[in-house]
Amino acid sequence: MTAAVDEVVRIASDLIRIDTTNTGDPTTVVGERAAAEHVAALLAEVGLEPVILESAPGRASVFARYPGADPSRDALLIHGHLDVVPADAGEWSVHPFSGEVRDGYVWGRGAVDMKNFDAMVLAVVRQWRREGRVPPRDLVLAFLADEEAGGTFGAHWLVAEHPQLFEGVTEAIGEVGGFSYTVSDDLRLYLIETAEKGLEWLRVHSRGRPGHGSMIHDDNAVTALAEAVARVGRHRFPIVMTDTVRRFLAEAGDALGVDIDPAQPEDAIAKLGTIAPIIGSTVRNTVNPTGLRAGYKENVIPSRASATLDCRTLPGQREVFEAQLRELLGPDLEIETIQSQPALETTFDGPLVEAMGAALRAEDPIARPVPYMLSGGTDAKAFAKLGIRCFGFVPLLLPPDLNFSALFHGIDERVPVEGLQFGVRVLDRFLAEC
Ligand SMILES: [Zn+2]
Repeated sequence: MTAAVDEVVRIASDLIRIDTTNTGDPTTVVGERAAAEHVAALLAEVGLEPVILESAPGRASVFARYPGADPSRDALLIHGHLDVVPADAGEWSVHPFSGEVRDGYVWGRGAVDMKNFDAMVLAVVRQWRREGRVPPRDLVLAFLADEEAGGTFGAHWLVAEHPQLFEGVTEAIGEVGGFSYTVSDDLRLYLIETAEKGLEWLRVHSRGRPGHGSMIHDDNAVTALAEAVARVGRHRFPIVMTDTVRRFLAEAGDALGVDIDPAQPEDAIAKLGTIAPIIGSTVRNTVNPTGLRAGYKENVIPSRASATLDCRTLPGQREVFEAQLRELLGPDLEIETIQSQPALETTFDGPLVEAMGAALRAEDPIARPVPYMLSGGTDAKAFAKLGIRCFGFVPLLLPPDLNFSALFHGIDERVPVEGLQFGVRVLDRFLAEC
């Protein structure tokens, strides 16, 4: 009988070979349907009854319910997305859609974001079904389209149009958490995601008097916009400690043997090495200008100019942030919301969290799980709308020197084979106690 640890690498490679590039332009998205059919076949082969749902032609997601031993208990959602961000083959050491296994790694787009987890879940579930094992409660398995463009054609659509799929679900696991950060020979932190920053994609518009580019002109929309954008782009919003980040810093400080001052945590965060970029952006609200548009002719002063801003807000900070941003931009600019998704935060406690910790420690005696906040967003934003408590828990044991955060959407994205197999063993233990 094939064990999950033996099957997981092949499943991951096969999924990577199905190019599911999501450019964000719905007309160019490929492969989601093929990936969904592949996943559905793997589930059907072991007697589950997967359904494929399409939000638009080709935009396919897969659902299956794995009945548990106690139908009176609430269900656990296990979700992974099937789409990936684009990859330019010319920049890679291997072809990004080869799924090649080399030097102890599975290589390719999606290897960490997040066909690795899709493969782990499939491998574990398939082994359990072959062995006739039953989880303690219902598992709802979801393999989703369109996460990389915000989930409009995936998680958000499913929550809005097919809420019955989530009946009885109170908790969920998915990306981005569960990976290791080795502190020393006798201590390894595992970062479990319990919070996500909110997202505000804004377009700001300035207006001025149009005119001839050769003349004196004191009401130029481009100048007004450029000044405001520069102010916002250089601004550092104040440090705000949320429960999750405070707890993470206390744990990290304890692990590293340093006192981290919550009022001025950034020097200490900078010493966290590969996870510094992840943690650093979770102590304050942030804005990055990401686009500019103005003008149509060198000698014509346009009457309007616009810029896009990518704003990320801490839990509970949205209104405060909006006031701060308005102050920075000044009273004259118009603010248009392109997309708005609230921040999430749950507590790091309860039986499910204990099951995560126990499973990690059983496979890695020096494991210490800690909660952390993700600066980005995931499909959890959609499921939280149904009141589901969401965790990022993709268990992965990583080599200490691997720059893991750089692999997300990065060139030469790859996942260690041993890390994948570790994840399978942890997931197996976790699901037995969930
Ligand atoms: Zn992802």
